[in-house]
Amino acid sequence: MMKNRVEKIFSGIIKTQRIASAYLLLGGLAQEKLDSALFFAKSLNCESQISKPCNSCLSCRKLSNSTHPDLIIIEKDGASIKIEQIRKLKEFMHYGPSEGTYKIVVVNNADAITSDAANSFLKMLEEPPSYSTYLLVSQKEEGLLPTIISRCQKIIFPEQSEYFISEQSKTVFEKLTGNNYVETSNAVRSIEDPVQLLEELFALCAQSQRYKLAKKVLYALKNIKMGSNKKLIIDWMCINKWNLN
Ligand SMILES: [Zn+2]
Repeated sequence: MMKNRVEKIFSGIIKTQRIASAYLLLGGLAQEKLDSALFFAKSLNCESQISKPCNSCLSCRKLSNSTHPDLIIIEKDGASIKIEQIRKLKEFMHYGPSEGTYKIVVVNNADAITSDAANSFLKMLEEPPSYSTYLLVSQKEEGLLPTIISRCQKIIFPEQSEYFISEQSKTVFEKLTGNNYVETSNAVRSIEDPVQLLEELFALCAQSQRYKLAKKVLYALKNIKMGSNKKLIIDWMCINKWNLN
């Protein structure tokens, strides 16, 4: 499976076992940051001795299905992340992990935290238990307390314009707009790595704000990453003849 640049960074961290108590994931695409956070969470608690994350052990599967008791994802409650949510988080962090090695906290849209919630959260970051890892996800640093930022190791995702869309992929996208099934599927299969192709297609959709198609691409990517047969996914793509306009 091809790893993106950030996943390679996370894999390196796992290998050296130099795990920081907090990371700040900045820039890039929203879903991409969340996917990478989940990748890291799985790697941290994966039971495999060979390849982390293996995506097949009980821990990996529970994390994929959002049923792992040691992962909490904090989302905005309305327009912001509120102090009540941080209070609940404190209770969650009070005890050690119940199944994995780490308790993982993902704070999505961390820049939307209210100031009293941020101050309370800062106290947690200042005294992290050894079993905790915080992953703060934000588009930008503005809105975050400098004291919070300084406690995090920053991981910066490439901006959309940095995504490279190859000529070869463009040809495939053109074919996907409506040529016949055999032609299209052969063209897609001739691309060595369908994951890379889909990632490029996703970047293209995001750039041109074609969100419906971007959603379909993500669905295909997610399935491939979870171990679905690549051929079946590509067949599904071709049969659906994605409309790129
Ligand atoms: Zn695993």
